[in-house]
Amino acid sequence: MFTQNRITVAARCCECCAEIETEISVFNLSGGKIRAVCPNCGKSALEITLSQDGKVRLSVPCVACPHPHPFTLSAETMFTKELFILQCSFTRLDICFMGQKNKVKEAMIKNGKELRTMMALGEEDDASADEEILSAEMYERIKVVLTFIEECANNGNITCKCRNNKTAPGIEVQLENDAAVLVCKECGRSVRIGYNDTDLLDMYIDMGKIRIFD
Ligand SMILES: [Zn+2]
Ligand SMILES: [Zn+2]
Ligand SMILES: [Zn+2]
Repeated sequence: MFTQNRITVAARCCECCAEIETEISVFNLSGGKIRAVCPNCGKSALEITLSQDGKVRLSVPCVACPHPHPFTLSAETMFTKELFILQCSFTRLDICFMGQKNKVKEAMIKNGKELRTMMALGEEDDASADEEILSAEMYERIKVVLTFIEECANNGNITCKCRNNKTAPGIEVQLENDAAVLVCKECGRSVRIGYNDTDLLDMYIDMGKIRIFD
């Protein structure tokens, strides 16, 4: 049984990182599509499609990836939890928060802080910083790094020494304050790509692939 009639769903714009928020009600479940556009730049949207079979399909913009992520959930999951969080399948960052309005708000503030720390924007001198949008320049840099990593991963262009410099069997991406760390799931070797290390990144982009060796 549903325990709440109305929930808040929130995500971040993949272009500018601003918060996109919408509310859905169980009464929407008779069908239809909700499209919440970024209130800041209008360049991305959180889409929620409700169908009569009790399934809810979401298309969630991701702060790390160039494409939105699709999810299918049961209405039951969405309308019975105080807070339910969806993650980017690639970086495991939390990208979509749903549930009771205050819980979602809290989670988004926490998420904003985490993102700022991750992107080394650590200054948190006043509470109003919570509402602040990430610096466009930093955001642009991390995006270039992650977009390139995703492209390489999708094309089998991340190679590892454990496979004689052939495509690594599996890769995990860990996001740190100043760098993305690619770890080979097979042997644990890793490579760091600093968000500000443009020389290294340019070299990889020239090669069209990333080699893990140490
Ligand atoms: Zn935006
Ligand atoms: Zn993603
Ligand atoms: Zn390896």
